[in-house]
Amino acid sequence: MTDRRLLLCTDMDRTVIPNGEHPEDPDARPRFASFCGRPDVTLAYVTGRHRALVQEAIRDYALPEPDYAVTDVGTVIYRVTNGVWEEWNAWAEEIGAAWKGKTREDLCALLRDVPHVTLQEAEKQNTHKISYYLDSSADAEAVLADMRARLAEEGVDAALVWSVDESADVGLLDVLPPRATKRHAVEFLQRELHYAEREVVFAGDSGNDLPMMESVLPSVLVANASDEVKKRGAALAEASARPEAFYVARGGLLHMNGNYSAGVLEGVWHFVPNLRNVLEKA
Ligand SMILES: [Mg+2]
Repeated sequence: MTDRRLLLCTDMDRTVIPNGEHPEDPDARPRFASFCGRPDVTLAYVTGRHRALVQEAIRDYALPEPDYAVTDVGTVIYRVTNGVWEEWNAWAEEIGAAWKGKTREDLCALLRDVPHVTLQEAEKQNTHKISYYLDSSADAEAVLADMRARLAEEGVDAALVWSVDESADVGLLDVLPPRATKRHAVEFLQRELHYAEREVVFAGDSGNDLPMMESVLPSVLVANASDEVKKRGAALAEASARPEAFYVARGGLLHMNGNYSAGVLEGVWHFVPNLRNVLEKA
């Protein structure tokens, strides 16, 4: 069966979870679940959610249990066996090297008196993710520069990822190891699980999925992704080493609309012809 095994890596929110404004096709999730239940399909969720929120979504939306889960924006990978979630330590070691032996407590101490930031709730933190709220009135660039200088002084290599939660009018700021990204996590899974490039499909819908579009691994944007994300994805893929490893779902597969999990399956159809007969029966 090695000629048609698949490592299917997918984002959750607005990719397999239909929590956007677009309609979900009623056949999409049952077909997705049935397809992922096959022994030759390995399923990995790749998400910003932490473990409890991933498990909640699986329950609330009747999503299939994954074999792997990349959570907390790429900072943790779990192996899931018969419902038991076990952290994959090799990933923690790989990304943690950039922190030069410093723990999260060390970094928190280093950043303790940076003005305008407050640590987020405990469940949003982990060994390799330090998450702050940033006052909406603060000069974000100045705060980031202050943090960068303190970290650099200790030789710590960290990515500072800043966004705005518009609904709450507050900034969100994550301090992460530079390799703790969805893209590197998916490439780690591919490598460690010995899948060929053509045996992997990644699916996503938004800005933090875009770095995958530069990867040589086959990637699909679901039809409900915004036009802006589709345009940026296309540009990144065009400039990449393998432009043909990019696809945008448009609907039509098995009379489905290409939104959410229908778009994920459409990506599989596009990239893995050997699985088309299986999809038709899903
Ligand atoms: Mg998403």
